[in-house]
Amino acid sequence: MARLIFLGPPGAGKGTQAMVLASLKQIPHISTGEILRAAVAGQTTLGVKAKGYMDRGELVPDQLVIDLIRERLGESDAEAGWILDGYPRNVAQADSLAELVTELGQTLDRVVNLDVPDETLVERLLSRGRKDDSEKVIRRRLEVYREQTAPLIKYYEAHQNLTTVDGDRPLEEVTTALKEIV
Ligand code: AMP
Repeated sequence: MARLIFLGPPGAGKGTQAMVLASLKQIPHISTGEILRAAVAGQTTLGVKAKGYMDRGELVPDQLVIDLIRERLGESDAEAGWILDGYPRNVAQADSLAELVTELGQTLDRVVNLDVPDETLVERLLSRGRKDDSEKVIRRRLEVYREQTAPLIKYYEAHQNLTTVDGDRPLEEVTTALKEIV
């Protein structure tokens, strides 16, 4: 049983590592970005509301992702544990998650912070070729990360077990380091 948050800037490798660890631990990997991209592709109400923000590299309004996470963590497969990737992205979302976890009678086991320098991030993101990976949007996403998400490092240092892992290494080395922690 594990309930984990993977924190880190865009391009840090959260998604890749969360996928590996989740399959190893047989718990769901929950990526708000992936759920939102699927909603945009399916032109659902959520997708239509989120699209413009995502295209610009801005965060979508908190209530959209708060509702989405509430629904997802309430599904039966999430009783076994979960790895959150891309959520929470700001203090309001972190506070809301804390409430939700308490309400579900659960505990958050650990927050893993993947640390990667900016040069590596931009290089990785540019080579990924996702729709929101143009240079202008990448720069905005990094700014949004620094302004809104990075404060969560201090937040979780104060509230929870936060472990920082050097993410500027080959994928397998990072996975090995993560396996030791979680
Ligand atoms: P990601 O795949 O995590 O990089 O997310 C892609 C985009 O989805 C972000 O740039 C945001 O526009 C949106 N997004 C994903 N997760 C969140 C979240 N927790 N809060 C607000 N917006 C989010």
